[in-house]
Amino acid sequence: MARIVMKFGGTSVANLERIRHVAGLVAEEAKGGNEVAVVVSAMSGETNRLVALVDALDADSDKGAAIEDEYDSIVASGEQVTSGLLAIALRRRGLKARSWLGWQIPLRTDMAHSKARIGEIESSAIGPSMAAGNIAVVAGFQGVNVEGRISTLGRGGSDTSAVALAVALKADRCDIYTDVDGIYTTDPRIAKDARRLNRIAFEEMLELASLGAKVLQTRSVELAMNYNLPIRVLTSMADVGDHNPGTLVCHEDETMEERVVSGVAYSRDEAQITLLRLKDAPGMVAKVCRAMSEANVIVDMIVQGISRSDNSANLTFTVGKRDLDKALSALKTAQGEIGFEGIKSDSDVTKVSVVGIGMRSHTGVAQTMFEALAERNINVEVIATSEIKISVLIDSEYTELAVRALHSAFDLHTTPAPKVSAP
Ligand code: ADP
Ligand code: ASP
Ligand code: MG
Repeated sequence: MARIVMKFGGTSVANLERIRHVAGLVAEEAKGGNEVAVVVSAMSGETNRLVALVDALDADSDKGAAIEDEYDSIVASGEQVTSGLLAIALRRRGLKARSWLGWQIPLRTDMAHSKARIGEIESSAIGPSMAAGNIAVVAGFQGVNVEGRISTLGRGGSDTSAVALAVALKADRCDIYTDVDGIYTTDPRIAKDARRLNRIAFEEMLELASLGAKVLQTRSVELAMNYNLPIRVLTSMADVGDHNPGTLVCHEDETMEERVVSGVAYSRDEAQITLLRLKDAPGMVAKVCRAMSEANVIVDMIVQGISRSDNSANLTFTVGKRDLDKALSALKTAQGEIGFEGIKSDSDVTKVSVVGIGMRSHTGVAQTMFEALAERNINVEVIATSEIKISVLIDSEYTELAVRALHSAFDLHTTPAPKVSAP
């Protein structure tokens, strides 16, 4: 007998037919006395619809009091519907099941509305209920804060609900069902020759997710890595009993392939800001970063071009697209104090990244990457690197071209040789 957490994303519960199908997959796992908790997202498109309602009402007036607490209680409602529907579908198959909302578990979070972090999940009610043979159908994406208000975990947050629940319930498995049959070398919607990976290391998946591969929410991978809980990503579109191996996200030592670059990710969620003729003196970049952090804006890539002739510099950096207006207004307010002559901004930019743990010990990745982009005449505006990734900022128009070019430059469509252990 095992304890299993299964998570189904928006397309997997998009309508009643899909919910009935999910009930079949869950029933199969519950066979033989396994204890099963299921985490569900809202029906696909539903969270966007709810966010749009909030935005439309908010746009009616000048910004006044904060509304994040009400935003959370509205956008969390999509998951309430799917958890109830799936519980009914399971009961109609003769199984015992009940829905659980975040506050009923309770899944406790901090106070950061719309991007709350999970503090603790109590298992004293849900655990015995599962042990008594009830399938727990948990509304993903939501929790409750210390003031008893509903909180949400950021877009894509049901992945994190599932991993956190698996940790709290000491589950034997955490299976994330989605609309693709695993993690691919890049988004299969962009590169038709993208290849499904059998396994991928936590570190690589963490980079891919944080660089835009939305197949898993970044925080869910971070949690799984911290608790060394392997996650299996697989398709919900398969029939019960079909071969459905998916991809195992696991510790580096358990991965099989020998490869320098494992994947290509992209994010269109970027905007670029350039401060013109900033004084080239110690402390100037710190002042810019302070203005951004006071406005609650995260700065990502940074590049500085210095002109020795007049001791000035142009400073270019990126922020999230949703934060662009906030960032520009904070910079204009601080212009006198920071001391720059002008601002330029551009939100038609994309960050494209190559990721691989093999980059720690191999050279030549940057050369291959920049040659592949240059051959397609793609201009690189900003560069950022870490031990296992190189990211470039390019004009959005070239996103698909760049992703495909890099995917093929690193031969990601071919199956690499298996890893050879050192003697
Ligand atoms: P769910 O609704 O199940 O949470 P998401 O839409 O959040 O599903 O994530 C699945 C999508 O992630 C896929 O449809 C795919 O287009 C996209 N994706 C991006 N990068 C990758 C990748 N490297 N491997 C697989 N899917 C990816
Ligand atoms: N429904 C939420 C979203 O669309 C959470 C999730 O799907 O994981 O972001
Ligand atoms: Mg998702």
